[in-house]
Amino acid sequence: MAKQNKESRCSFCHSGKHETLMLIEGMDAFICDKCVTQANQLLAQELGTKGTKNIQEVINLLKPLEIKQHLDQYVIGQDDAKKVLSVAVYNHYKRLNQKVDKDEIEIEKSNIMLVGETGTGKTLLAKTIAKILHVPFCICDATVLTEAGYVGEDVESILTRLLQAADYDVTAAERGIVYIDEVDKVARKSDNPSITRDVSGEGVQQALLKILEGTVVNVPPQGGRKHPDQKMIPVNTNNILFICGGAFDGIERKIANRLRTQAVGYKVKKDEMVLDLKNLYKYITPQDLKSFGLIPELIGRIPVLSHLNPLDKESLRNILTAPKNSLIKQYVKLFAYEDVKLVFEDEVLDFIVDKAMEYKLGARGLRSICEAIMLDAMFDTPTQTDVKELHINLDYAIEKFEKADFKKLQAA
Ligand code: ADP
Repeated sequence: MAKQNKESRCSFCHSGKHETLMLIEGMDAFICDKCVTQANQLLAQELGTKGTKNIQEVINLLKPLEIKQHLDQYVIGQDDAKKVLSVAVYNHYKRLNQKVDKDEIEIEKSNIMLVGETGTGKTLLAKTIAKILHVPFCICDATVLTEAGYVGEDVESILTRLLQAADYDVTAAERGIVYIDEVDKVARKSDNPSITRDVSGEGVQQALLKILEGTVVNVPPQGGRKHPDQKMIPVNTNNILFICGGAFDGIERKIANRLRTQAVGYKVKKDEMVLDLKNLYKYITPQDLKSFGLIPELIGRIPVLSHLNPLDKESLRNILTAPKNSLIKQYVKLFAYEDVKLVFEDEVLDFIVDKAMEYKLGARGLRSICEAIMLDAMFDTPTQTDVKELHINLDYAIEKFEKADFKKLQAA
């Protein structure tokens, strides 16, 4: 076995130990961090050809209708968003294989904006799409991003996450999907461009522009601030699909105002006048995003816009039981590992939904309510080997729910 001493050198590039970050010892050789990275990139390039094929295969296999059908298995309702997303994703991956020929028609990128209340399934949709397509996926929060030079994360950190999700396979990352959450939080505070710098808002939007459109970004592999010693990995964002999401609290007022002016200014057919006032999100247009404070350049780079509907009782009830990995199915599986058959009575499911509605917890709250009800059973059952079946009835659910710290649930 090779001995790591002062003379230890990389067997590939001959760099000495002091010239490398790390020298890894093998049976009869050493390899330095730089050569590992280079080898990894070569491998990624080699496998990348196969990667394209895989995506091509998926796209050949999955037409927009089938993509939507896959989404239906995991996400309840939200048909409009699913349809828009299926088409956008299908076109995006067709674009990856485009050849710009004589006609010079170039299919442009179709980044997507999803607008809807929190907990209605925006992240879930993006995550599920990535799973269907087997591409690297990461979620990042726009609120932690700041302009370069300010406290917070640089916009490049988004790509660090994607690289990490792709196990540093640059070629795979370059075809991945990034979900940028809470993009509404970087809206500028007033509709007028400000002359002073706005740390939280417009600067970040400006920084996002280039990444969203497609450029080569030098990404710090471990994240954090750029510093001279850190070796950067160039990542081309041209084929990365960005899905942005946000609740855009208060945008309904802007939509309503616009609709009202339109109704006054134009002759509108009678049936078009019947507006669904409970869900104004469905009338959203890029113009509303601009009134909310997104800069037109950014809006232009996110050409696909869709909305998510607020979840009603029926949807919440379905979310509990219908998706492929619904909460109830997960609990049943957990207990099945203990050889216990778990059964929820229908009334319990209604109770869980009612509580989620009552405390305005939305779909996210279903989980905390279920946990409150099931905690004792999950604690006791593994040691009660004689229990073979467990029926959760309404009395049991109410008792356990009331025992739980309800204020904690409200804050969830
Ligand atoms: P958002 O990104 O819109 O704030 P999420 O997608 O993170 O919301 O949803 C939070 C949780 O609620 C998800 O993990 C999922 O379990 C559940 N959920 C929300 N909406 C739906 C839906 N339409 N269908 C199925 N589950 C949903």
